[in-house]
Amino acid sequence: MKKQVLQPTYFEKFSCIGPACEDTCCAGWKLSVDKRTFQMYRKVTSGSIAKDLRTNVTRERANPSDSNYAKIKVDEHMNCSFLNEDKLCNIFIELGENFLCDTCTFFPRQISAIEQRVERDLSVACPEAARLILLNPDGIDFVMMEDEFAKHTLFAYPDVTSRFWDMRIFVIQILQNRQASIESRLLVLGIFMRKMQTTEESDWEQRLPLYISECNDILNRAASFGIHKYLPSDEEMINIIYRLLEFQKEYELFNRRFDECIAQLEEGLQLNGGDTVEQSVALYKQSVQNYYKPFFEEKDYILENYLVNYVFKNSLPQSQMSFVKEYEQLFMWFLFIKGTLIGLGSYHQGLSEEIVLKFIQSFTKTLENNKDFRKLMKSILEREND
Ligand code: SF4
Repeated sequence: MKKQVLQPTYFEKFSCIGPACEDTCCAGWKLSVDKRTFQMYRKVTSGSIAKDLRTNVTRERANPSDSNYAKIKVDEHMNCSFLNEDKLCNIFIELGENFLCDTCTFFPRQISAIEQRVERDLSVACPEAARLILLNPDGIDFVMMEDEFAKHTLFAYPDVTSRFWDMRIFVIQILQNRQASIESRLLVLGIFMRKMQTTEESDWEQRLPLYISECNDILNRAASFGIHKYLPSDEEMINIIYRLLEFQKEYELFNRRFDECIAQLEEGLQLNGGDTVEQSVALYKQSVQNYYKPFFEEKDYILENYLVNYVFKNSLPQSQMSFVKEYEQLFMWFLFIKGTLIGLGSYHQGLSEEIVLKFIQSFTKTLENNKDFRKLMKSILEREND
């Protein structure tokens, strides 16, 4: 069936780099298998793969669903048991693409249905996708097309608010407004989301053009509005980074690249317990001036592209009840990324595209769907709002 599809222009350019990948998608995750694929696996009776499928793919007993119907065994490094020494998938090699489960078929692609329209995008959790998404100095552009659509979608949002499309366009316009710093854009986005959440939906039609005009005005004069005083202080940033370190130590996260970044962050800001907070704050300030600012003065499109992709991928803003919550989560992600990059700048005595990409990719891959990390973000936000 043909459907209207909205997607970033980068989408068509992606192709998996297989064995050349720094962080194969078959490692570090719980691997869920959908019901349709599990039933296909049970019908395979010949070849060496048949026995492996019986042994290594077992029913999910805790809260099973059609999409989370079975699971694939992983080894002690959390690698998929079907990943061979060349980092290639034995299911794909022996049975073909049609036998891949939904997770493996789609990743890093995401397909969502919003009302009658389909949206496709990529996740920065894949290093190759992250390069395409983040390193484009011209920013993320979108294209609308008609496409044949046989495959089912992964996410469905049948009920969005009455002004969803207008809001979404404006949210992306704010994030792509290069007249202002990336922090100013985020803060103005917060003002807009609060205004929309506290206005009755019946008044949106009349109020929305006014709010857009007010927010554009603040954005264009952000420096004179002194908007930066609403950002966390350096001491607060150290505290936020410290919570990330504690989390990484408490939970086994099984991502070598992420663990390397966190170890470097800890050393870069001397957060290993032996030094005082004042010393860490001093290192943080130095890194902002010497490494973070000079790098992002040239390349703040990397952070812009991250934020725009986040908004598009998460289909924001979704529900009036949670506009502010959705915004605060986005803001927290940004703070974790910014704080860690400042720490990495201190460790490496500089920043490069490679360092920035490695952290954003591995952070997203490791924590994007981690329920405990979401709880941590919630607790930080609740304390901030007290
Ligand atoms: S993470 Fe991306 S590039 Fe790497 S193996 Fe998976 S899809 Fe391919």
